[in-house]
Amino acid sequence: MKKKEIVILALVVAALVAALLLMNIIGSHGGRRLEITVNGEEYQSFVLTDQTNMHFTIETPDGYNEVVITNGVVDVVDADCHNHVCVDTKPASKIFDKIVCLPHKVVIEIVGDDGEMD
Ligand SMILES: [Zn+2]
Repeated sequence: MKKKEIVILALVVAALVAALLLMNIIGSHGGRRLEITVNGEEYQSFVLTDQTNMHFTIETPDGYNEVVITNGVVDVVDADCHNHVCVDTKPASKIFDKIVCLPHKVVIEIVGDDGEMD
């Protein structure tokens, strides 16, 4: 009897943990920010949603990176850096996805939005 209670308790705890994890995943999916830094300094930062569609160019002292965002998926489509690693990097759409252009010191990163107003 005692053992059965422990098993039930463990199942309830496991279900709660699973529910919390699921809420976290759904929650974090709804709150994404795109953060762009150039040479370690913030260049641009904005909320990213599945409805975000943009096309812009990051101008740096070392060159440019052309960015296209299609339905919240971020891609570097063109740049005048010498290695084009940033252009070859697969599009970013999830938190922790990152596109880096080392020659231009550009970091394009998706981070979780903690809901802070700014
Ligand atoms: Zn590059």
